[in-house]
Formats: sequence, structure tokens, C-alpha cells
Amino acid sequence: MGVRAVRGVRDILPTETPTWQAIEAATRRVFESYGYRELRIPLFERTELFARGIGETTDIVEKEMYTFQDRSGDSITLRPEATASVLRAYIEHGLFTQPKPVRLYTVGPMFRYERPQAGRYRQFHQINVEALGEAASALDAEVLGMLMAFFGALGLGERAVLHVNSIGDAACRPAFRTALAEHLGANLGRLCEECRGRVGRNPLRVLDCKKPECQPVLEKAPSILDALCGACREHFERVRRYLDALGLRYEVTPRLVRGLDYYVRTTFEVLTGDLGAQNALAGGGRYYGLIELLGGPPDPGIGFAIGMERVALLLGAGPDPAAAFVQLIPLGEPGLVRCLRLAQVLRAAGLPVEVAYGARRLRTELERAHRLGVPHVLIVGDDELRAGAATLRDMASGAQDAVPLDAVAPRLEGLYAARADGAAPRAARA
Ligand code: AMP
Repeated sequence: MGVRAVRGVRDILPTETPTWQAIEAATRRVFESYGYRELRIPLFERTELFARGIGETTDIVEKEMYTFQDRSGDSITLRPEATASVLRAYIEHGLFTQPKPVRLYTVGPMFRYERPQAGRYRQFHQINVEALGEAASALDAEVLGMLMAFFGALGLGERAVLHVNSIGDAACRPAFRTALAEHLGANLGRLCEECRGRVGRNPLRVLDCKKPECQPVLEKAPSILDALCGACREHFERVRRYLDALGLRYEVTPRLVRGLDYYVRTTFEVLTGDLGAQNALAGGGRYYGLIELLGGPPDPGIGFAIGMERVALLLGAGPDPAAAFVQLIPLGEPGLVRCLRLAQVLRAAGLPVEVAYGARRLRTELERAHRLGVPHVLIVGDDELRAGAATLRDMASGAQDAVPLDAVAPRLEGLYAARADGAAPRAARA
């Protein structure tokens, strides 16, 4: 074996791409029905953007970024997430002058130097949404409703559970943080090593720890929901009222936090019971101060990221339909010329067509068509040309009939329109 792919980086093979295309089609269909528009951001940015936008003391920035110097000596980083880039673009192109909220989504690969395992990779893909410039709680409900509509559109509504929380704001969180740090400090010896280090720096993140030894301490920890100020409490109550009005099922999970200071109020996650340890399908929250920190106006934002590999794992491979609907088999040079023209006509009509160029024996070509799973084969040899008709074979039944050459295209187009599974061509499947 020659050079292999880098550890934690995988190919998405043709047998898997129908699933990925279905995820992408659902993304566009659902998000655009809510008025979100696609933004395409670069794969790499100045390192400084992520250091500021994600935070110097986060795991991502401290340990996980792919950072290098380019040939002019600038420090460049492959994007580990989308939000910082989306906000940079929002500021750089003056999108903030448009009517608010500005609704954006992105789809594409991210890069993090993490320990690879099932459902966790070093190159992975996210669908990211940001709704910018609007603080109303109804927007939170819109974003959450859209997130769950995405899972519903893929038939995953029952397997994806929405968890929501509020983490307060600058008015109420500091007091909660102090109370939490006191509780954790009093129980320091009963926390895992990582959490002991976090108590001083970022006690909120301890709430997120999944280690069994930390759970008894965390169960007794004060709840952020008891510490919310009036405005945050009101915001959260409204969000829940709107979610109820939408008929959305969700769980209130008071320990769901986002570790960064600029997150405010609504935070959320979508979890599944079907993927083992990597159970998070999506996560997000409302933030304030981040756009300003990156040099823009003091606009609020709310957004989320969905992990596409995990969605693809849940969906599974699905059927693997043949690439072509009809295989044209020319026997001899005049037949080949005729097939080339015919293929052009059929493709223009939207049929996936393959021409067998092998000049192999008919039996070999039929075996090949069978292996490819092509439903129909059209044989065009000298005999057929002389008779002015081609032989059309139904591969499933083996039935053959002679079709006049000028009737071949309409006949195949008719068969394609009426095909039993009614399936659209692969790319549009969703
Ligand atoms: P985050 O940007 O860390 O909030 O992650 C959002 C979502 O992206 C998670 O819920 C996962 O579904 C997915 N995700 C994050 N990191 C990885 C990774 N290394 N490999 C695969 N999916 C990931």
C-alpha cells in the first residue's frame, strides 16, 4: 500500500455520498424555507480570528487547531468551527447594515486535532447556522424549531432529543459562578483531575463533565435556573412558551452550559441514544459581545452547529442505486457512433446513461451491466442498424424487444418517468 490518508481523516465513498447528498438537500430545503441564506466562508483564516473568537483558553485554541505559517510568515489556521468566520464576514462585508435578523447558514469541513474514534474525526463536517442582530426570544424558538425540523425532514425526529437551558447573562451569571465555585471548591477532592483545574478558571465547564466520579458533586450543585435575573427568566419562559406553541418536544437540562463568557441565556444541544459516547448531534446558543469583540457593532447572535458525520452514521448507508438507468451496448463501429448520439439525447432529457466502450462480447457486457445494477440495456449492432431497430432488454426479467431506432428515446424517457421506485436521480434524493 502506498501513501494512506492522514489519521482521523476519511474519504466519503460513492456508496455513502447519497446519504450526504440527502443531508445537504434537507439542509437547503429546511433552512431556506425559514429564510436563511447560504454563506460560503474560506477553509482557513488568520489564527488571530479563532484565538479571539473562540477564546485563548478553550480546548480548541489551546490544543486542537491546525496552525501553520504560510510562505509570507503569516500565522494561518484551518477553521475548527464556523461562527468566527461567519461573524468576520458579517462585519467585513457590512452585512450588519441589512434588515435584522440576518439569517445565514454554512456547510463544510472543519479541522480539529482531536483523538480520533467512531464519530470523532480530525476533518469533519458541520452545518452551521447564525441569526444575527436580533435579541427577541421568538428568534430562539425559530432557530430551535428549524434545527428540529431538519432532523424531522431526515426521519430522525424520534432519535434526536432537544435539550435546552438558560445560562443567564452578565447581570446574573457572576453571582451563580461564585456560588458554584464555592460548592465545587468545598468538594474539590471528589472531582476528577481535569475538573479540579477548571474550578478556578471556568467553573461552569465543570457542570458539563461526564466522568462518573464528578456526578455526586454535580448533582448537589446549585442550579443556574434558580439564579436567573428577572430579564433572563422572562426570556427563557417565553422561549419555552413558543416551543410549546410549536409543539416541540424538549427537555430542560440545567447543567447544559457553554463554557465561553460571551454565551448568554439560551443554550441547547441535540443528543441521541444511538451513537454511544459521541452522542451530541448538534449544539448551540445565544451570544452577546462576540461581534463587538471581533470589531463589529454590539449585535447579539444565536446559532448552532450540526455534526454531519454523526447524522450520516444515524441515517446509515441506505440503498445503493445504480449510477445509470440505461446502458448502451454498441456492437461494432456504426453502432458505437449511433450510441454516442443517442446517449447525448437521453442525457439532455435527464436520464443517467452509460455507454459500454469495451468492444467486448455481448455476454461480457451484459454481465457487467448486471454487476452495475443497471435496469435497462440497449443493444445496437450491425443487425439492428440494418433492421432500423435496437434491442431493449429489461435486466430484471430478461425480456427483450426490438424498438425502432427513432422510438428508442421516447420509449426510454417513458420508462424513466414511470420507474417503479419513483426515485429521483441520486443527487436530488432526500
Ligand atoms: P461544537 O462545534 O464542538 O459545538 O460541535 C458541534 C457538533 O459538531 C457536535 O455536536 C458534533 O456533532 C460535531 N463535532 C464536533 N467535533 C467533532 C469531531 N471531531 N468529529 C465529528 N463531529 C464533531
